[in-house]
Amino acid sequence: MRFKYCPHCGQKAEMKQIGDEGVIPYCTECGIPLWDMFTTSIIAAVVNEYDEVALLRQDYVSTTSHVCVAGVMKIGESAEETVMREIGEELGLHVKSLKYIKSYPYGKKEMLMLGFRAAVDKQDFTLSGEVDAAEWVKYEDALSMLREGSIAWQLVSTVIAITHSPAD
Ligand SMILES: [Zn+2]
Repeated sequence: MRFKYCPHCGQKAEMKQIGDEGVIPYCTECGIPLWDMFTTSIIAAVVNEYDEVALLRQDYVSTTSHVCVAGVMKIGESAEETVMREIGEELGLHVKSLKYIKSYPYGKKEMLMLGFRAAVDKQDFTLSGEVDAAEWVKYEDALSMLREGSIAWQLVSTVIAITHSPAD
């Protein structure tokens, strides 16, 4: 979101050159630049010790493709805490180890998604009401169940590649 009005005092923003950052909306009343705002969220490839990844069905997101665990960060949370909370809420699983993979800008929704690999012990799921179904899927079958090119597809591709790289 690019601000047209100051969210603090409501005055109309003016455009002002801010150093190297370029021309940014600025509140002359508060004396502050109004940086572009976006939502920071996490997305996690939840994997187990058998080279399987947890894929979810969330009909409110898509009725044709599976998705990964994802959720919006809360104020005061680290990204790691968000990942552990979301995996607990959506799947009822406890994370053993976390590895940050990379970030994915999602322009359409003005989101920045931080992608993680989350390792858990293989267990049955305890699903939240937001999740219609979930299953453990072998790595070799996982990509065809995700929408090609989607952020979940990119993340799972990378996680599989890392797992199969001899350097890891
Ligand atoms: Zn202001």
